[in-house]
Amino acid sequence: MIYLVAGTHGDEKAGWYAGLLLREATISCGDLYVLSIANRQGAAANRRYVTGKEDLNRSYPGSADSQSGRLAAAIYADIREKSPEFVLDLHEAITVQEGRDFLGSSLIFTSLTVTEDFGDLFFDLLDAIDEGEICFESFGYNGPAPNGSLNYTVTTELKIPILTVETFRGYPITHRVEEQLEIVEYVLAWKGMRGE
Ligand SMILES: [Zn+2]
Repeated sequence: MIYLVAGTHGDEKAGWYAGLLLREATISCGDLYVLSIANRQGAAANRRYVTGKEDLNRSYPGSADSQSGRLAAAIYADIREKSPEFVLDLHEAITVQEGRDFLGSSLIFTSLTVTEDFGDLFFDLLDAIDEGEICFESFGYNGPAPNGSLNYTVTTELKIPILTVETFRGYPITHRVEEQLEIVEYVLAWKGMRGE
Protein backbone atom coordinates (compact mmCIF):
# COMPACT_ATOMS: atom_id res chain seq x y z
CA MET A 1 0.00 0.00 0.00
CA ILE A 2 1.03 3.54 -0.76
CA TYR A 3 -0.40 6.15 1.59
CA LEU A 4 -0.73 9.64 0.12
CA VAL A 5 -1.25 12.77 2.22
CA ALA A 6 -2.24 15.96 0.39
CA GLY A 7 -3.35 19.34 1.65
CA THR A 8 -1.38 19.51 4.91
CA HIS A 9 -1.04 23.22 4.14
CA GLY A 10 -4.40 24.53 3.00
CA ASP A 11 -3.01 27.20 0.65
CA GLU A 12 -0.86 24.73 -1.33
CA LYS A 13 -3.62 23.98 -3.78
CA ALA A 14 -1.83 21.89 -6.40
CA GLY A 15 -1.09 19.24 -3.77
CA TRP A 16 -4.65 18.77 -2.67
CA TYR A 17 -6.16 19.21 -6.14
CA ALA A 18 -3.91 16.36 -7.26
CA GLY A 19 -4.92 14.40 -4.15
CA LEU A 20 -8.61 14.81 -4.95
CA LEU A 21 -8.02 13.69 -8.56
CA LEU A 22 -6.01 10.70 -7.37
CA ARG A 23 -8.97 9.45 -5.35
CA GLU A 24 -10.29 8.32 -8.75
CA ALA A 25 -6.99 6.73 -9.87
CA THR A 26 -7.06 3.21 -11.32
CA ILE A 27 -4.62 0.89 -9.64
CA SER A 28 -3.79 -2.46 -11.24
CA CYS A 29 -2.21 -4.00 -8.20
CA GLY A 30 -1.80 -3.07 -4.52
CA ASP A 31 -3.58 -0.20 -2.75
CA LEU A 32 -3.35 3.56 -2.93
CA TYR A 33 -4.83 5.24 0.12
CA VAL A 34 -5.46 8.97 -0.37
CA LEU A 35 -5.91 11.41 2.50
CA SER A 36 -6.96 14.65 0.83
CA ILE A 37 -7.60 17.25 2.11
CA ALA A 38 -5.58 16.63 5.30
CA ASN A 39 -6.10 20.18 6.59
CA ARG A 40 -9.70 20.88 5.58
CA GLN A 41 -10.03 23.90 7.82
CA GLY A 42 -6.96 25.53 6.29
CA ALA A 43 -8.04 24.69 2.73
CA ALA A 44 -11.49 26.19 3.29
CA ALA A 45 -9.81 29.45 4.39
CA ASN A 46 -6.98 29.26 1.77
CA ARG A 47 -4.56 29.27 4.71
CA ARG A 48 -1.39 27.33 5.53
CA TYR A 49 -2.27 26.82 9.18
CA VAL A 50 -5.01 24.72 10.80
CA THR A 51 -5.94 27.67 12.98
CA GLY A 52 -3.98 30.68 14.30
CA LYS A 53 -0.31 29.84 13.69
CA GLU A 54 -0.78 26.10 14.26
CA ASP A 55 1.20 24.33 11.53
CA LEU A 56 0.07 20.73 11.01
CA ASN A 57 3.46 19.92 9.52
CA ARG A 58 5.28 20.90 12.72
CA SER A 59 2.84 19.02 14.98
CA TYR A 60 3.82 15.36 14.48
CA PRO A 61 3.58 12.88 16.11
CA GLY A 62 0.76 14.88 17.68
CA SER A 63 -0.47 16.15 21.03
CA ALA A 64 -3.77 16.74 22.83
CA ASP A 65 -3.27 20.44 23.49
CA SER A 66 -3.89 22.02 20.08
CA GLN A 67 -6.10 21.48 17.04
CA SER A 68 -3.09 20.83 14.80
CA GLY A 69 -1.70 18.42 17.43
CA ARG A 70 -4.92 16.42 17.57
CA LEU A 71 -5.17 16.31 13.77
CA ALA A 72 -1.52 15.22 13.51
CA ALA A 73 -2.11 12.49 16.11
CA ALA A 74 -5.10 11.15 14.15
CA ILE A 75 -3.19 11.10 10.84
CA TYR A 76 -0.10 9.59 12.46
CA ALA A 77 -2.18 6.84 14.15
CA ASP A 78 -3.86 6.04 10.83
CA ILE A 79 -0.52 5.70 9.01
CA ARG A 80 0.91 3.58 11.81
CA GLU A 81 -2.15 1.31 11.75
CA LYS A 82 -2.21 0.92 7.95
CA SER A 83 1.56 0.40 7.89
CA PRO A 84 2.05 1.32 4.20
CA GLU A 85 5.26 0.44 2.36
CA PHE A 86 5.61 4.02 1.14
CA VAL A 87 4.20 7.46 1.96
CA LEU A 88 3.81 10.41 -0.42
CA ASP A 89 3.31 13.90 0.98
CA LEU A 90 2.19 16.58 -1.49
CA HIS A 91 3.10 20.23 -0.85
CA GLU A 92 3.98 23.43 -2.64
CA ALA A 93 6.79 25.92 -2.15
CA ILE A 94 6.83 29.69 -2.40
CA THR A 95 9.76 32.10 -2.56
CA VAL A 96 12.08 32.14 0.44
CA GLN A 97 10.42 33.31 3.59
CA GLU A 98 11.49 32.46 7.08
CA GLY A 99 9.80 29.43 8.58
CA ARG A 100 8.16 28.42 5.32
CA ASP A 101 8.84 25.82 2.68
CA PHE A 102 11.88 25.60 0.41
CA LEU A 103 12.24 27.64 -2.72
CA GLY A 104 11.30 26.12 -6.03
CA SER A 105 10.39 22.67 -7.20
CA SER A 106 11.95 20.05 -4.97
CA LEU A 107 11.81 16.57 -3.53
CA ILE A 108 12.33 16.26 0.23
CA PHE A 109 13.53 13.24 2.17
CA THR A 110 14.78 12.57 5.69
CA SER A 111 16.69 9.33 5.07
CA LEU A 112 17.23 7.53 1.78
CA THR A 113 18.49 4.44 3.57
CA VAL A 114 15.37 3.78 5.64
CA THR A 115 14.63 0.88 3.26
CA GLU A 116 16.76 -0.85 0.66
CA ASP A 117 14.99 0.52 -2.42
CA PHE A 118 14.07 4.08 -1.42
CA GLY A 119 17.34 5.61 -2.64
CA ASP A 120 16.93 3.85 -6.02
CA LEU A 121 13.38 5.12 -6.40
CA PHE A 122 14.40 8.63 -5.37
CA PHE A 123 17.25 8.93 -7.87
CA ASP A 124 15.34 7.18 -10.68
CA LEU A 125 12.61 9.76 -10.16
CA LEU A 126 15.08 12.66 -10.19
CA ASP A 127 16.65 11.24 -13.38
CA ALA A 128 13.26 10.93 -15.08
CA ILE A 129 12.59 14.59 -14.25
CA ASP A 130 16.07 15.70 -15.39
CA GLU A 131 15.68 13.78 -18.65
CA GLY A 132 12.39 15.54 -19.29
CA GLU A 133 10.35 12.32 -19.19
CA ILE A 134 8.04 13.91 -16.65
CA CYS A 135 7.50 17.45 -15.28
CA PHE A 136 8.35 20.76 -16.95
CA GLU A 137 11.62 21.75 -15.27
CA SER A 138 14.24 20.15 -13.07
CA PHE A 139 13.65 19.52 -9.39
CA GLY A 140 16.16 20.02 -6.61
CA TYR A 141 16.28 17.90 -3.50
CA ASN A 142 16.62 18.62 0.19
CA GLY A 143 16.81 16.80 3.47
CA PRO A 144 16.26 16.13 6.24
CA ALA A 145 12.73 17.43 6.65
CA PRO A 146 12.13 19.63 9.73
CA ASN A 147 11.43 18.30 13.19
CA GLY A 148 7.71 17.83 13.74
CA SER A 149 7.00 17.34 10.04
CA LEU A 150 5.23 14.25 8.73
CA ASN A 151 8.30 13.39 6.65
CA TYR A 152 10.70 13.51 9.60
CA THR A 153 8.38 11.66 11.98
CA VAL A 154 7.33 8.86 9.62
CA THR A 155 10.99 8.28 8.75
CA THR A 156 12.45 8.34 12.23
CA GLU A 157 9.59 6.81 14.26
CA LEU A 158 7.92 4.41 11.83
CA LYS A 159 10.94 3.65 9.57
CA ILE A 160 8.70 3.99 6.52
CA PRO A 161 10.15 5.72 3.42
CA ILE A 162 8.38 9.00 2.68
CA LEU A 163 8.80 11.45 -0.18
CA THR A 164 7.61 15.04 0.06
CA VAL A 165 6.91 16.74 -3.27
CA GLU A 166 7.09 20.54 -3.48
CA THR A 167 5.89 22.16 -6.67
CA PHE A 168 6.66 25.84 -7.15
CA ARG A 169 3.76 28.23 -6.70
CA GLY A 170 5.23 30.70 -9.19
CA TYR A 171 3.96 28.48 -12.04
CA PRO A 172 0.35 28.24 -13.23
CA ILE A 173 -1.91 25.90 -11.26
CA THR A 174 -2.49 23.47 -14.18
CA HIS A 175 1.29 23.06 -14.59
CA ARG A 176 1.71 22.36 -10.85
CA VAL A 177 -1.16 19.86 -10.63
CA GLU A 178 0.18 18.02 -13.67
CA GLU A 179 3.63 17.77 -12.09
CA GLN A 180 2.16 16.42 -8.85
CA LEU A 181 0.17 13.81 -10.78
CA GLU A 182 3.14 12.81 -12.93
CA ILE A 183 5.35 12.27 -9.90
CA VAL A 184 2.72 10.19 -8.11
CA GLU A 185 2.13 8.14 -11.25
CA TYR A 186 5.88 7.62 -11.65
CA VAL A 187 6.04 6.22 -8.11
CA LEU A 188 3.01 3.97 -8.70
CA ALA A 189 4.56 2.62 -11.91
CA TRP A 190 7.95 2.13 -10.21
CA LYS A 191 6.17 0.14 -7.50
CA GLY A 192 4.43 -1.98 -10.14
CA MET A 193 0.99 -0.60 -9.33
CA ARG A 194 0.20 0.71 -12.83
CA GLY A 195 0.30 -2.38 -15.07
CA GLU A 196 -0.87 -2.55 -18.66
ZN1 LIG B 1 3.59 22.66 2.65
